[in-house]
Amino acid sequence: MPEIPLIKCTGCGACVHLCTKQAISLSENQEGFLYPKVDDNLCVNCGLCEKNCPVNQSGKTAEKFSVRKAFACIVNDEKIREKSSSGGMFTVLAEKIIEEGGIVFGAEFDEDFSVKFGWTDSVEGLERFRGSKYLQARTENSFSECKKYLEEGRKVLFTGTPCQVAGLKAFLKKDYENLYTVDFICHGVPSAELWQKYVKYREKKSASRTVKTAFRRKNVGWKLYSLSFTFANDSEYRQSLTKDKYLQIFLKDNSLRESCYKCSFRGDNHKSDLTIADFWGIESVYPDFFDDRGTSLLIVQNEKGKNLFDSCTGRFKSKETDFFKAVNFNPSYFKSPARKEKRNVFYKDFETRGIDYLYRRFGRESLFFRFKHFVKRCLRF
Ligand SMILES: Cc1cc2nc3c(=O)[nH]c(=O)nc-3n(C[C@H](O)[C@H](O)[C@H](O)COP(=O)(O)OP(=O)(O)OC[C@H]3O[C@@H](n4cnc5c(N)ncnc54)[C@H](O)[C@@H]3O)c2cc1C
Repeated sequence: MPEIPLIKCTGCGACVHLCTKQAISLSENQEGFLYPKVDDNLCVNCGLCEKNCPVNQSGKTAEKFSVRKAFACIVNDEKIREKSSSGGMFTVLAEKIIEEGGIVFGAEFDEDFSVKFGWTDSVEGLERFRGSKYLQARTENSFSECKKYLEEGRKVLFTGTPCQVAGLKAFLKKDYENLYTVDFICHGVPSAELWQKYVKYREKKSASRTVKTAFRRKNVGWKLYSLSFTFANDSEYRQSLTKDKYLQIFLKDNSLRESCYKCSFRGDNHKSDLTIADFWGIESVYPDFFDDRGTSLLIVQNEKGKNLFDSCTGRFKSKETDFFKAVNFNPSYFKSPARKEKRNVFYKDFETRGIDYLYRRFGRESLFFRFKHFVKRCLRF
């Protein structure tokens, strides 16, 4: 059994695939997060899982970041930007790898709208990965598939949360010249079960089944993005981040995985070649890069990341910016969200209560906050 406190386990699944005795599997806890489970009859106490666990390795190989640079970026193709969460840099990098005969790994919706890792070698296939899905994606057998393609000599671009990229690298145990990794600034992830509960809640309200959903619709703007559902009966639900119940619960930080509150892969512990994010605050850094349709922050973490980024020139516009100035608006780069008292009871209530209750108790702004805003609005008139 990996000797890491479960509070720090990210559920990346590296230990499952490293175990030569197939003694480890992932199983869901009562909160709906995956954790390793060891079959004592198969385990031979070889220690491989513990030694290679990315959490145990974190901090040991932090690079010197001599080439670390930050850029504001916007993809040239407006249709791609519209479908992307930020400025579309995921697609820029992914298309380049595919054009060179490579494979791209990313997170996609499953048939039941849970989220898992998939891979593609076609530009059309990238559509499935585009757009942020605010819940934890299952890595399943993606690490082993990734290794298979790397050993065949094909270029691979693996994209995911910082802990998933660290998990892949821990599983591979060596550097591959043909592997490129991109993570993002990650706020944290709620459980797949919470999202499933919300999908069912929306389906009940619309009396129909979901055919499509998206977390980052930009119809009202990039900053005030919306979550949307399209149902089989042609009805639609769309609500902005300030009003949607799921997004509000997510953003209030009481539903995140325990490891997210003490994330081992922030700041200098990012293991990726490139990090992408929303360039929040761009309107004050470079007003000419702000039109509320999405601007990416791209951080070059090492030489390999720099080479991939440079090779994509011509597909996007960019402007270099001071790294600290850029991440100043995105505290999740360095800091884990604070774990509040309420986190202790969120998943207890989750077992017995519905979305409306969870939103009222854990998602809605306090009475004082709402009153302050009401007064502010009145004073404006
Ligand atoms: C859970 C989560 C938390 C985030 N927190 C922040 C934050 O605090 N600050 C910030 O600036 N940005 C955050 N992001 C990243 C941001 O939302 C955009 O995904 C990022 O800026 C890339 O946008 P894009 O326009 O380049 O491309 P997009 O096309 O929107 O990028 C999609 C990329 O995200 C990956 N992806 C989507 N959902 C998941 C998932 N559940 N698990 C793993 N990979 C996934 C896809 O595989 C693909 O690589 C977060 C994303 C997620 C999924």
